[in-house]
Amino acid sequence: MKKLLLPLLCSLPLLASVHVAVAYPYIGELVKTIAHDKVDVSVIAQGSSDPHFVVPRPSYIGMLREADLLIVNGGGLEIGWIPPLQNQAHNPKIIQGAAGYLDLSAYVKMIDKPTSLSRAQGDVHAEGNPHYSLDPYNIPVLAKIIMLKLSLMDPANKNVYHTNYDVFAKQWSIKLAQWDKTMLPCRNTQVIQYHELYSYFLNRYGIHTAGTIEPLPGITPSSKHTLELINQIRTDKIPTIIQDDYHEPKTAQFIASKSGARAVVLAHDVGGENDTLEKLFDSLSEQTCKQ
Ligand SMILES: [Zn+2]
Repeated sequence: MKKLLLPLLCSLPLLASVHVAVAYPYIGELVKTIAHDKVDVSVIAQGSSDPHFVVPRPSYIGMLREADLLIVNGGGLEIGWIPPLQNQAHNPKIIQGAAGYLDLSAYVKMIDKPTSLSRAQGDVHAEGNPHYSLDPYNIPVLAKIIMLKLSLMDPANKNVYHTNYDVFAKQWSIKLAQWDKTMLPCRNTQVIQYHELYSYFLNRYGIHTAGTIEPLPGITPSSKHTLELINQIRTDKIPTIIQDDYHEPKTAQFIASKSGARAVVLAHDVGGENDTLEKLFDSLSEQTCKQ
């Protein structure tokens, strides 16, 4: 019997030794880029959904229960939905502070940290703006952190992770130069955003956010605020309104029709047509800075 089993076992594909659960598709892409088939990756949120509010499903608890490593965006972005899932998964390996919990926000500089917190400021991001993954210059930083973490957890494949990271970092630097070039003509222009979702991307390329369609973070637009924006766009000749792919688009379309600005809908994570990080930033740069 043993003689029969041995060749059978040897012919099975090698099972990944590390099971990784990640909050968002962009993190899943980074893990796959660094690890290829050396780890299993489960992605929780959809790329086209509101990243602040992910509707819990029983399958998400299963993902966390089986995970050796949980990688989150952090900076308060998942505060409403990851902690309840962690509580229900009862997996001590991936709780905050454990070796299997990686908060990527600890490795980047966050902007817009509020100096005081009150309800009057809306549903604020208490730790600052957590949408740092939309600065393409942050991507290799995050890839490196993931590479180092996987190397620690799975030292047998350390060389594979290092090599894959080196290849990725080299390719990404070529893309950064391309995006710099695409975005250059839009330096020192102004835009209106729905939520301050693209601030890191816009700041990187010297584009100023002159206003937001939501009057305060998490607050739906009022008629008064909408009319003020139309006047502001007309007076200051603001050319572009940036709408994300999960808020209602009607207010942006209305403001565009009354002010003459161009309303553009942008993705904010990997998914659909933008099924790689490169395609996501290609699309962001081409659509934001259309010449
Ligand atoms: Zn936000």
